[in-house]
Amino acid sequence: MFYIDVHCHLARQELQDQVDKLICEALENNVKIMIVSVQSELEFRNAMKLKEKYPLTIFLTLGQELTDFTIDTFTKLTKNIEKLIREKIVVGIGEIGLDYSKVKDPILRNIAKAILEKWLSLASKLDIPVIVHTHRAHRDSIEILKSFSLRKVVLHAFSGGTETAKKAAEEGWYFSIPPSIMHSKQKQKLVQALELDNLLLESDCPELGPSYGEPSKPVHVRLVAEKIAELKKVPVDEVVRQCTVNALRLFRLEDVVRENVELFGELFSS
Ligand SMILES: [Zn+2]
Repeated sequence: MFYIDVHCHLARQELQDQVDKLICEALENNVKIMIVSVQSELEFRNAMKLKEKYPLTIFLTLGQELTDFTIDTFTKLTKNIEKLIREKIVVGIGEIGLDYSKVKDPILRNIAKAILEKWLSLASKLDIPVIVHTHRAHRDSIEILKSFSLRKVVLHAFSGGTETAKKAAEEGWYFSIPPSIMHSKQKQKLVQALELDNLLLESDCPELGPSYGEPSKPVHVRLVAEKIAELKKVPVDEVVRQCTVNALRLFRLEDVVRENVELFGELFSS
C-alpha cells in the first residue's frame, strides 16, 4: 500500500530549489504519487520538468490562482489540454475556486465566478475531475458546481459545516484533507462526519501545514492518514488503502498502477 498526495504546489517557483528533496523524501516514505496543482504558465513549465524527471510520480491538474482575474491564463494553460490528458500528464482541473475571505469586492467575486464557470464547463466537456477551493463561499461554489452536474469533484480548503459537507458527499463529491487537520477542529469534525469513501489525502504543500506557520510537504499526508484513523477509530492501513483507491479511481490512474507493479506493488491483486 502506498500514499497519494492529491493536491500540492510543487511547481511553485519558490520551491524549485528544494523540490527534488521534497519528492525524494516523499518517495522514501511511501508517498508514491503527487498530483501537482498548476496555476500559471511558469508553474506549468516547472511541472513539466518534474513530470519528465519523475514520470510515474508526478501528475498535473491545471487551474489558476484565485486572485488571477484574467481569462488569459485559462486560454494559455488549456491550449493543449486534450493531448495532455491522452498522454496521462494532466489528470484533472484545479486548483480553481472561490475564496471570499481573500476576494471581498462584489465585482471581482463575479469575475471569479465567471472564470470558475469557464474551467468547470471545460471539465464537464472533457469529463475529468475538478479540484475546487471553496473558502467562505460554499453557497456560491456548490450552486455553480451543481449547475454543471459535475460528479468528479474534490472540495479543497472547505471551511463549511458538517451538514453542508454531508450533502456534498451525497453528490459523490470528495474532500481532500490537509495536514492542518492536526490542529483544525473544523477539519476534525469534517472527517468524523464523512465516510472514508469520500476522503482524499493532500499536503497542499507549502500551505496548510501540521502546525501554524510550518510549511506543509507531501510526506505529511502520512500524518493526515494517522489523524483520520485516530478520529474514526479504524486501522491506519484501512485509511490509506481507501484514500488511495479513491484517488486512483477519481483521477483514472488504476492502469498506471497495474502496469507498474514493480514500483507500486500488487495493489489490485486481492
Ligand atoms: Zn492548494
